[in-house]
Amino acid sequence: MADCLFCKIAAKQIPAKVAYEDDEVIAFDDINPAAPVHVLVVPKKHIATLNDAQPGDAQVLGKLMTAAAQVAADRGIAGSGWRVTVNVGKDAHQLVFHVHLHLMGGRPFGWPPG
Ligand code: AMP
Ligand code: ZN
Repeated sequence: MADCLFCKIAAKQIPAKVAYEDDEVIAFDDINPAAPVHVLVVPKKHIATLNDAQPGDAQVLGKLMTAAAQVAADRGIAGSGWRVTVNVGKDAHQLVFHVHLHLMGGRPFGWPPG
């Protein structure tokens, strides 16, 4: 999608620190990290929010999870623990309208989240 920040990062039109990449998924460091490890895991296909996901997107959405686990292992937080968050819409504070997992770890988190 032309005017989408994460589509541009996936197309390498905007630089990012890439943590993982395959044909369908790219993961890169969040520019404003909320934890020692804070990586965004993104489908290369533009899907605006999980509200817009279709049954045919199930495979790539699943790949986001396995990619997150790979990045967690690579960054050394598989054993200490980590969290995946997906913000959907206004109440959840979604700011970039291209589906992304926030993979966060390297410190303890509270529960429930704010
Ligand atoms: P959300 O609020 O769930 O839409 O999260 C959007 C995330 O994108 C925020 O954590 C931002 O810090 C992050 N972000 C915004 N611009 C960039 C960028 N150019 N590179 C990496 N992360 C970014
Ligand atoms: Zn996009």
